[in-house]
Amino acid sequence: KLFNEVQEAKGNIRVFCRCRPLSKKEQSIGYATVVDFDGAKDGELAILNGGSNKKIFKFDRVYTPKDDQVDVFVDASPMATSVLDGYNVCIFAYGQTGTGKTFTMEGPEQNRGVNYRTLEKLFQIAQERSDTFTYDLSVSVLEVYNEQIRDLLDTSPTSKKLEIKQASEGLHHVPGVVEAKVENTKQVWEVLRAGSNARAVGSNNVNEHSSRSHCMLSIMVKSKNLMNGECTKSKLWLVDLAGSERLAKTDVQGERLKEAQNINRSLSALGDVISALANKSSHIPYRNSKLTHLLQDSLGGDSKTLMFVQISPSEHDLGETLSSLNFASRVR
Ligand code: ADP
Ligand code: MG
Repeated sequence: KLFNEVQEAKGNIRVFCRCRPLSKKEQSIGYATVVDFDGAKDGELAILNGGSNKKIFKFDRVYTPKDDQVDVFVDASPMATSVLDGYNVCIFAYGQTGTGKTFTMEGPEQNRGVNYRTLEKLFQIAQERSDTFTYDLSVSVLEVYNEQIRDLLDTSPTSKKLEIKQASEGLHHVPGVVEAKVENTKQVWEVLRAGSNARAVGSNNVNEHSSRSHCMLSIMVKSKNLMNGECTKSKLWLVDLAGSERLAKTDVQGERLKEAQNINRSLSALGDVISALANKSSHIPYRNSKLTHLLQDSLGGDSKTLMFVQISPSEHDLGETLSSLNFASRVR
C-alpha cells in the first residue's frame, strides 16, 4: 500500500536506504556504529553525528544490517510487474565503495541480489500471463568508464565505438550492442556471468576498476497482447554505479584525476536529472553524461525509478555516509 501512496506523493521516484553490517575488520579495530535504526520501520534513520547530535533522514524504506536479500526484494519486486505492464523502469544502487552496491544488485551466487531476482520474477509473471500475452526478453550488459560505453557481451576482437541514438519511436538505444535473447533464468544467469567475467578483462585490479565504472544491465521487453494483437516495448535498467566517494587530494593525479572527474560528473548529472524530475522542472539535463543519456527513457515521464542508497554503519565512514544520505535526500 505504501508503494502507491508514495508514488502519488512524489511521482515515480522512490528511495530505499540499505546499511551493510559492520565488517569483521571494522569490528576488530573497534569502530563504533553511527547509525540508529529505531525508526527503520517508518523509513527513518538517525545518524549519530558526535555527542548527542542526531541527524534524521527519511526514505521510502530503510533496511538494517539484519535485513536480507529476500526482505529487500519483497519491496523491489513490484518493479518487475511494472516492466511487464509496459513501463520503463530503472533500479540503481548509489554509494561509497564497500557499502554493498554490488551485494544488493548482483549478490553472491548463493544469495542473489535484485538483478537476478527481478529477471526471475519477469519470467514468473510472463508465465502466469501466458494465456493473454507473449513476451520477448533480451539482455545487454554495458559498462560506462570515463564517459565511454563498453559492451560486455561483445566477444569480437575489434571494439566498436558505441554511441547513443534515438530511434524513430523515441526510445534511446546503442546501435551495435549485443542483445542476448533470454528464455529462462538459466540463460539469464549465463548472460550475467559472461558480463561479470568480461568486466574483469583488461583491468589489473577488478575491484578497483568496478568501483570506478558504472555497470549497467538493460532488459528490453517486447510484449504482444494475444487478444487484440497490440505490441509494446519497455525497458528495465539495473545499474551498479561507480563509487561515490571523493578521492583524497594526494591520490588525484593523471589517470585517476580523469576517472574521478568523470565519476563526479556522471553522478552529479544523475542527481541533477532526478532532482529536476522531482521538482517538475521544465528542462531535464539528460545530455550531461553518458549515464543519464543512456537512462533517459527510464528516468522521468511515466517511468518508475528506484534508488538504493547504500551506507556503511562505521564511524570511520561518517563523512561519506552523510554525503550519500544528502544526495539521496536531494533526489527525494
Ligand atoms: P560495493 O559494491 O558498494 O563496493 P560490495 O557489494 O562489494 O560493495 O560490498 C562490500 C563488502 O560488504 C562485501 O564483502 C559484501 O559481501 C559485504 N556486504 C555488503 N552488504 C552486505 C549485507 N547487506 N550483508 C552482508 N554483507 C554485505
Ligand atoms: Mg561493487
